[in-house]
Amino acid sequence: MLIAPGVHVVHVSEEKLMHPGGTNVYLVGNGEWVLVDSGEDTEAVAGNILDYLEGLGRPRLREIVVTHSHADHWGGARRVGAATGATLRAYNFEAWDAEKREALRDYPNVRPLRDGELISIGARGLRAVHTPGHSPEHLCYFLEDEGILFSGDTILGIGTTVIQDLGAYMTSLAKLLDLHPRSICPGHGPVIEDGEARIGEYIRHREMRERQILGLLAEKPHTTRQIVKALYAEVDRRLHKAAARNVQTHLDKLLGEGRIKSRVRGGSRYFLLTS
Ligand SMILES: [Zn+2]
Repeated sequence: MLIAPGVHVVHVSEEKLMHPGGTNVYLVGNGEWVLVDSGEDTEAVAGNILDYLEGLGRPRLREIVVTHSHADHWGGARRVGAATGATLRAYNFEAWDAEKREALRDYPNVRPLRDGELISIGARGLRAVHTPGHSPEHLCYFLEDEGILFSGDTILGIGTTVIQDLGAYMTSLAKLLDLHPRSICPGHGPVIEDGEARIGEYIRHREMRERQILGLLAEKPHTTRQIVKALYAEVDRRLHKAAARNVQTHLDKLLGEGRIKSRVRGGSRYFLLTS
């Protein structure tokens, strides 16, 4: 589906619990094309992408640029690369898990990308922006003239993302806000029309969670589990594990800032305010 001149979204998988809205990859170009992410490693996903290219008249796919090392973002690259000869590009590829690099061992051409690197696509520029937080090697891509941000898993079209390092994530959100994106093309869920507003919502959402956690700890010490139960009572229990990880990132950030401390009692770790 065309979302802007020379920018197409290809929806490549069905809805999953962790990814409501399914998975998207994007084709950017005119003459020569670049694929942003490549979906997971299944014949159906690669088939979707190759069929879409066929529909565009089978133009040259020059590069596959991936946002990060989670398999639903790069897994399809091998099949698409084999069919098109596209170069695979990623940030800090050397630091990817050994088994992932091993899976791409036969990939003919993998080239690293630097933070801030400008990928030329005809007269347009696609800027790689290092945005750690969801994962350490996460890159977003910013199509500068059109103000279109390809956000991978840093911003989702629906719901909120899992965060590994909240301090880094908040810094990355501030960096993305500075780009003043008009629209955001996420790795999962629908395209976001008012990009800047959504980033603001994400920032406020995290700040609200932080205030809620501090509020609970001001009442009495809590374990991670107790915090999840208090804050995510309305959320599907199957998502509580993901919620616990997010709560833990808040606690890690607050511990790092020295605003809270922890204490083990009866075999459980309780968090409480410092002072
Ligand atoms: Zn991910």
